[in-house]
Amino acid sequence: MRAIYPGSFDPITLGHLDIIERGCRLFEHVIVAVLQNPNKSPLFTVEERIKLIRTSLPHVPNVSVTSFGGLTVNFAHQQASQVILRGLRVLSDFEMELQMALTNKTLAEDIETVFLAASNEYSFLSSSVVKEVARFGGSVNHLVPTHVAEEIYSRCCAPKPPEPLTSINPEPIQGSKLLKE
Ligand code: ADP
Repeated sequence: MRAIYPGSFDPITLGHLDIIERGCRLFEHVIVAVLQNPNKSPLFTVEERIKLIRTSLPHVPNVSVTSFGGLTVNFAHQQASQVILRGLRVLSDFEMELQMALTNKTLAEDIETVFLAASNEYSFLSSSVVKEVARFGGSVNHLVPTHVAEEIYSRCCAPKPPEPLTSINPEPIQGSKLLKE
């Protein structure tokens, strides 16, 4: 059985990779499908996102990466895929995901949405969180593959070096004066 894994992947995170790797153990073939969405202003173009995903998956043989536009169920039919694979993180994902799955069911009875629960260590992780942290100079090395982190830094900003201790505690003399009193 083949599955498509649709999403924005702007950019791919370790949470997405976890779902892909686990999906590839369940299905014969998984097609990671980057949605072309003209309503969003992404950090990476669709082509760049595809390249970042491909470079993240050299160790997985039964995966391919492409893009699509329009209805997900139409793309699933084109790809001869019976399954739409999605990841479920916190409760807030559930409402939207259920709505999408039920809508897709009304459009294509033969296609099933399969949810994999996010792994504990990635259940907080989203592409938006990664972009937000990088934008404010934080490190994202523990959230995305190394080559993805480098690309993000070249676009947003590099992580800031830690602040020198003196700026955290700028008035040590006043403190010691108080102690004497
Ligand atoms: P969206 O499709 O809402 O733009 P993404 O493209 O980021 O979201 O994600 C595609 C799919 O991967 C969605 O099903 C989403 O719930 C899932 N996903 C995203 N991040 C994680 C994560 N950290 N762990 C598990 N699943 C995730």
